[in-house]
Amino acid sequence: MKYLRLAQMASQFSTSGATTQAANATSTASINDIPKSWTFTSKLPPDSLFPTPADSHKTPRDHIVPRQVRDALFTWVRPQHVERPELLAVSPAAMRDLGIGEGDEKTEDFVQTVAGNKLQGWDEEKLEGGYPWAQCYGGFQFGQWAGQLGDGRAISLFETTNPKTGVRYELQLKGAGLTPYSRFADGKAVLRSSIREFVVSEALNALGIPSTRALSLTLLPEVKVRRETIEPGAIVARFTQSWLRIGNFDILRARGDRGLIRKLATYVAEDVFGGWETLPGRLEDPDKPKESPPPKRNIPADAIEGPPESAENRFTRLYREIVRRNALTVAKWQAYGFMNGVLNTDNTSLYGLSIDFGPFAFMDNFDPNYTPNHDDFMLRYSYRNQPSIIWWNLVRLGEALGESIGAGSQVDDPKFIEDGVKEEDANGIIERAEKIIMQVGEEYKAVFLDEYKKAMTARFGLKTYKDSDFDDLFSSILDTMESLELDFNLFFRRLSSVKVDELETEGARQDRASVFFYSDGVTGAGGEAEGRKKVGEWLDKWRQRILEDWGDGQTISNEQDEERMRAMKKVNPNFVPRGWILDEVIKRVEKNNERDVLDRIMTMALHPFEESWAGRTFDGKEYKGDIDEETRWTSDVPRLGRAMQCSCSS
Ligand code: AMP
Ligand code: MG
Repeated sequence: MKYLRLAQMASQFSTSGATTQAANATSTASINDIPKSWTFTSKLPPDSLFPTPADSHKTPRDHIVPRQVRDALFTWVRPQHVERPELLAVSPAAMRDLGIGEGDEKTEDFVQTVAGNKLQGWDEEKLEGGYPWAQCYGGFQFGQWAGQLGDGRAISLFETTNPKTGVRYELQLKGAGLTPYSRFADGKAVLRSSIREFVVSEALNALGIPSTRALSLTLLPEVKVRRETIEPGAIVARFTQSWLRIGNFDILRARGDRGLIRKLATYVAEDVFGGWETLPGRLEDPDKPKESPPPKRNIPADAIEGPPESAENRFTRLYREIVRRNALTVAKWQAYGFMNGVLNTDNTSLYGLSIDFGPFAFMDNFDPNYTPNHDDFMLRYSYRNQPSIIWWNLVRLGEALGESIGAGSQVDDPKFIEDGVKEEDANGIIERAEKIIMQVGEEYKAVFLDEYKKAMTARFGLKTYKDSDFDDLFSSILDTMESLELDFNLFFRRLSSVKVDELETEGARQDRASVFFYSDGVTGAGGEAEGRKKVGEWLDKWRQRILEDWGDGQTISNEQDEERMRAMKKVNPNFVPRGWILDEVIKRVEKNNERDVLDRIMTMALHPFEESWAGRTFDGKEYKGDIDEETRWTSDVPRLGRAMQCSCSS
């Protein structure tokens, strides 16, 4: 094998965020009126320096500064007050999913809430009510233990449950000021990285790739941020079902806080995933010979402890749920050429989401060694490494949960809960935990591969997956894309418009092959002649499979082929927010004071599968862009804008 194809793996035929669809009906609630809760802070222990919200509130804001916080999951801390915040844009899909009525973004309360100036649910006079907080976590950064990290510039305001969908989200402001977790940094975010996060969060969700979301982007004209130069500050109001990361367990493990590990695991199972009974069913017992019955899903709630001989307890099932979710997400990243760029354990979500966007990118020219992170010299977080890196991170989580996983049916013994592992049991428990983690690793690979194959099958326009497709269709065209330096996402979109009856002869196929080339020529090895030959040969194999899946094996009707093209366009985006496009938007907002360009890129990001946008109506508003702009943003990447890299100074 050239390089493990595992590294190009993913799934889902769904093409738009499930939650977006579910919340279709228009809501009229304002940000003041949406239902709010503070479950996280009510169930988990706070920083003992500020035992109550009132203790934090009475402390001058600039006295809340970086320090080590122990025995706690969070600190109560309010956002920094900011002068003259300017709301630049909102995501209409986010408004809908949160149950906030269209137009509420024009109110002063909305603007001040998402800027951090207005606290929702807090009674200033009585000093009581719900209060904002910042999480404590740690993490392995570039493979090294980095100690305490935490929400250094993100502050959560409240949770809100959309009454129509029943989904609970936690709303958080990124760039809201210093917290105990800011380390040596300033607690601020610059406009350019905020624009990037605002757009990509919503773009990923619209592509059907699990992601944290973005509600709004606010410019802070009075906040000057020192990076390489002085830049304007900004706040993204972002939200998701859970902001917990592997790093939340890492820090507890590093401090040997087994009580809190158990407490947090229980919180994740019960309050994030909705109950132990929703977690996956049994794995095969690693201590038993192979002929044990196949794994079951959804075992009854009263069986969660399992028979005494079972090695798998509910903590293992929680671990498996987290592993499976991450396998699905990384599979989708591979199928859509998305790279996070900094996959440290503190940037790996327990809910299995794309999270914390720094130097991320969508793949331009297909290159498995590409990393969007300018400072990642070892290519640790390159495209091809993402699946194995996420697994590396998940092993750290397995280690944090190791004692609970390895304890099997002893896990609820009062003595085990109180005193931990007895010395004479330690080896057995470690051995069992290791075996289970290895086994879950196999499950990770299987879920990942299955999702990757599903997603790629759909992207290639096939209805079925045959084992031979992996090498003959997937790997062979990826190798060709790599050597010819073809654009990954444009390839699939353009393939969606290729008609099967245009591919009948070798000559016709070679002719058609050029649709995948840059208009200024083939830059990769072999040039145009080699390109036509290679792509032409591949198109022949692809055509055969389309004839099998959509026609009768020999022929295909026009209607069948059109149906195939429509299906392909629903999974192959016409628009992805690439590095060069985001750079252009950033310049136009910063230098030219443009604002509408943000609404336009957001609309394209929310509706990525459309053929065109200008003059049409989306989310109840006419799209007032011009054809030139959208054509540029959906065509060849300009030569100098390909495979851009970003530094981490956001
Ligand atoms: P990241 O690389 O963005 O995931 O950040 C790693 C850690 O550094 C997290 O704990 C962040 O909260 C923290 N951090 C990053 N940038 C800042 C900043 N400007 N101010 C405070 N903390 C920051
Ligand atoms: Mg982070």
